[in-house]
Amino acid sequence: MKNNILSFDIDQLTQYFKDIGEASYRVNQVMDWIYKKMVWEFYKMTNLPIKLREKLEEDFYIYIPKVLNKIEEYNTIKVLFQLEDKEIIEAVLISHKNRRTLCVSTQVGCSFRCNFCATGLMGFKRNLSSGEILAQILWAKNFLFERGENLNNVVYMGMGEPLANYEEVIKSIKILNSPIGIGIGAKHISLSTVGLVPQIYKLSKEKIPITLAISLHAPDNELRNVLVPINKKYPLEELLPACWYYSEKMGRRISFEYVLLEEINDTIEMAEKLVNLLKNKPAHVNLIPWNKVSEFPWKRPSILRIKKFEKFLKDKGINVTLRISYGEKIKAGCGQLRGEFIGRKKI
Ligand code: SAH
Repeated sequence: MKNNILSFDIDQLTQYFKDIGEASYRVNQVMDWIYKKMVWEFYKMTNLPIKLREKLEEDFYIYIPKVLNKIEEYNTIKVLFQLEDKEIIEAVLISHKNRRTLCVSTQVGCSFRCNFCATGLMGFKRNLSSGEILAQILWAKNFLFERGENLNNVVYMGMGEPLANYEEVIKSIKILNSPIGIGIGAKHISLSTVGLVPQIYKLSKEKIPITLAISLHAPDNELRNVLVPINKKYPLEELLPACWYYSEKMGRRISFEYVLLEEINDTIEMAEKLVNLLKNKPAHVNLIPWNKVSEFPWKRPSILRIKKFEKFLKDKGINVTLRISYGEKIKAGCGQLRGEFIGRKKI
């Protein structure tokens, strides 16, 4: 049976070449073709002996998912991919000034059912392999390459919970970060989680100091239990110490995502609680006005309310950015396009 070579990490490739009696520099050569030159057919890898190309062809394939749909609006391109087993995932490519950022999915669906998120409504189907995660990145890199542009950042913030698919996600990050792989620096890689405490401690032992983003969304357990139900298992008094531990070990600030829902978590009372939680901590708050998902009763706040909330935090010395989502019209919110496409095309 052939293996998807994108799911082989550096150690596995090294072992493979050793097993077939080839020198270890073959790893660098093959990875250079796949991840740097964007050549995805073995017969085109011209610095390898013909016999070796044939052997690779026999043992491996390179799977780049089929693009079912691509929707472009302003600075955002949302891509819908079909995987080998016909499951569908999405990735979002965002251009901001001279930076290109790709948001990748890590699972088909999600089991955490946050009470404002479209992906949660689908339930959990399966984990993505590291190869399926890397393929989204390779597709984007190639797409940008053809436009004469580069991919600068990758954020693990698409469909699914990355820390619930720990091994495959880390495997993909290692190739993404490696100079002989895609070669994107740790500072340009972010991972967003609902807050799985044991995995946060595990992540702080990895050697790649990526940016950790926490889907906070509420400043107290009472509200967070409703919006992010996994909070009942890992409440704030356990989650926050894990974040500060990660920050200390990695020397990185923690990024807290806060989806704004009108009259639910966007009041000054909530802002005060948030300040008390994060004051004088290595924290950065990312405010995200909620993208409407019709199944939930919430409302996206007016720009006036959003600005007021932002100003309150700023005045109290909290680092804050407002993430204006240009993708709102094309529904670049987590999981939204997939739902619509399936509804429309009945696949
Ligand atoms: N499971 C991970 C990563 C995927 S979601 C996590 O929860 O962090 C990426 C971010 O988008 C999360 O902060 C999530 O809460 C947010 N999000 C989900 N649905 C949204 C919506 N409809 N509008 C705005 N942000 C949303």
